[in-house]
Amino acid sequence: MNAVESENFNRLLSRLGHQFTPHGKCDFAVINTCTVTSRADKKSIRAVRKCALENGARIIFITGCWSELDIEGNNQNNTGFVNSDFTGRIFGLSHDVRLVRVLQKDKPRLCEIVQSLLGNPFAGDVEKRGKELAVRSSNSEKKIKKAAGVFRTRAFIKIQDGCANYCAYCRIPYARGKPQSRNYEEIIDLVKQHADEGCPEIVLCGINMGEYIYKSMTFADMLGELLTYTKNTLVRLSSLEPPSFTPPLFNALSSVAIAPHVHIPLQSGSDSVLSAMGRRYTADFFRAVVKKLRTINPGFAVSTDIIAGFPGETESDHTATLNLLRETKCMRIHVFPFSLRPGTRAENFLNVVPQKIIQKRTAEIAALGSELAGEYIREMSGKVQRFVIEDRVNNSHDLYADSTNSPGTVWYSGTSEYYIKGYFKSIRDADSDLYVGQVKNLFLGRDSGNNTVFSCMK
Ligand code: SF4
Repeated sequence: MNAVESENFNRLLSRLGHQFTPHGKCDFAVINTCTVTSRADKKSIRAVRKCALENGARIIFITGCWSELDIEGNNQNNTGFVNSDFTGRIFGLSHDVRLVRVLQKDKPRLCEIVQSLLGNPFAGDVEKRGKELAVRSSNSEKKIKKAAGVFRTRAFIKIQDGCANYCAYCRIPYARGKPQSRNYEEIIDLVKQHADEGCPEIVLCGINMGEYIYKSMTFADMLGELLTYTKNTLVRLSSLEPPSFTPPLFNALSSVAIAPHVHIPLQSGSDSVLSAMGRRYTADFFRAVVKKLRTINPGFAVSTDIIAGFPGETESDHTATLNLLRETKCMRIHVFPFSLRPGTRAENFLNVVPQKIIQKRTAEIAALGSELAGEYIREMSGKVQRFVIEDRVNNSHDLYADSTNSPGTVWYSGTSEYYIKGYFKSIRDADSDLYVGQVKNLFLGRDSGNNTVFSCMK
């Protein structure tokens, strides 16, 4: 979700004439922070320091969940931090850097705040003003897209924000507030715009997308409607909570216009742990969701999140998680060692799992993740898949040299509809807009397969 928001900031700021620089010196920085784990907190602090010390930013805009909840804790010198704007030597910085906190409620206005604090005379309707500037500017759309860097091959559309589930380990409801759904007409406008421009893939995002409700329109209703405007654009769903899977949603998912991949955060395969976490489903429910997806498409890709070592998790709970992951053949597993987040209900749980055991379980789940990723790749080898080209591969001759790799051969990397990365040679089909050819190498996790026939859009 942060990536989506950051893409949007990036796009708007580029339109306003700023140039995106992922590395090196910069005049100002925008840091969109996360607080999902204690590691994410540390990364947020490191990012602020790095921008000030290494990249030389004199003004840093800090937004996102960590800044919403925790920044006071790092304002050790208590230096004049008032509302959303403050200055001072915090984060242990030895020189003055202006730090501006942009709260969740002001996030939609972030670019406007940036412009006004950088001394730009205009503020107000940034989206509109940005468009005007883009037209007047000597920057071509191509240059703007280039400035937007890695985000140019797919469009992310945020349709929903916030959550009211209050899972015992999670801070997101405190940071992002109650569920809010985006106006349906606005979503359709964006979808049409991207589809008309020939964008290969649209990714729908939200904190809890299944909770989408606009007037009386549910997520499944909205998805069904939206598909009438997508033309040749593939629609990908980012993450959906297990209870989001209703019969109407399964119907919508059977459309070939939707990528056969979805991320479903399972968190644990044990009913007692799920209940302690405050999750609103059982292991059997998750099992049934995956089974149903595989009746729609036997190769349907399911990736997931797991928390290892939640308070009270026993060895048999952990085994139940491993068994369920194996049984449902999750093709990508993000495992997080449980870390206590301040202000969550889990803070009061007494039956804490020792760190050593948490680390051991985390490693076991990660190892299973690699094994299942390899199995999935092997199963999918030989299957026709649509790919979205993401980048041209430099030094491909060294990486993928073979007898057919003559000098000048162009290699690309991309991601398939099944969420598999691939490297391939691109050969344009004379009769269509498609690039067809043979995938040289597929990878997912640490394993790889070979020679999958594919077609892809560019
Ligand atoms: S569903 Fe649970 S884990 Fe997901 S955002 Fe809401 S509270 Fe957090």
